[in-house]
Amino acid sequence: MTGKYSRFSLEGERALITGGGTGIGFGIAESMIRAGARVVLAGRREELLRTAADKLGDRAGYIVGDVTDTRGAEEFARTVEEKFGPVSILVNNAGIHHKQPFLETAYEDFDKVLRTHVSGSFVMSKAFAPSMAARKHGHILFIASMTTFIGMPQVIGYTAAKSAVGGMVRALTAELAPLGVRVNAIAPGWINSEMMHRAVNSDPERKAKILGRTPMGRFGDPEDIGDAAVYLSSPAASFVTGVILPVDGGAVTGF
Ligand code: NDP
Repeated sequence: MTGKYSRFSLEGERALITGGGTGIGFGIAESMIRAGARVVLAGRREELLRTAADKLGDRAGYIVGDVTDTRGAEEFARTVEEKFGPVSILVNNAGIHHKQPFLETAYEDFDKVLRTHVSGSFVMSKAFAPSMAARKHGHILFIASMTTFIGMPQVIGYTAAKSAVGGMVRALTAELAPLGVRVNAIAPGWINSEMMHRAVNSDPERKAKILGRTPMGRFGDPEDIGDAAVYLSSPAASFVTGVILPVDGGAVTGF
């Protein structure tokens, strides 16, 4: 790689990363900044975002926003671009998890998961795509999951939502390609993050089972997802669209 001439460089790009203050989103921000991009972190907790952006330095900014505020998405996108400049990469990463047996799961909990992952990504994509299309240059990157491909017990909302994320990638690819906007997803395996630790730390048996099901025998790190996000967003992937790339240590092959 030779600095700014590299096909893997994100020099000149600006990424808006939902859920960018923690875990995978923060890892994506770190990798993208290393590749030369500017980033804007979005989420609901201002103090957390400020601390995260400070850690990342002068190529990072932040903005408070809730992806479930479906009516406010267009105004949100306008505010982001007025404050920071055009966004060429949207990372639909914000997410929540709800684990409970199906028969005990309340509709409200199911719906909240869908509203965050599915409706949230829909409105954000719709809000940012027009300015990408106007410049004939953009990339919308979804963060999917192994549950985009396989069923997982006790997470019906999450599995349904991440399957829908796969559907959105497939539906949007052909529509946005002529407008100069690529659409891809990364399907992470088990990645070290707040969400994952909340799900497995209290359950050592489950943790061992997960590691047993991951051929590479370890959890991934946010950076593993970040580096894949850099590749997919860079000129090196300029002919890559409509892809859902597993980054999971081989886990999805062996369920
Ligand atoms: P975290 O819990 O660390 O991150 C989730 C982020 O989403 C937080 O920063 C949170 O910020 C933000 N968020 C949640 N709800 C909203 C909302 N309504 N509006 C705006 N931001 C919101 O988990 P991860 O980093 O693990 O998860 C990131 C993504 O990766 C998710 O989509 C998750 O499903 C996916 N994923 C994670 C895997 C893992 O093993 N960790 C595996 C596969 C996929 P705030 O609360 O401040 O709003």
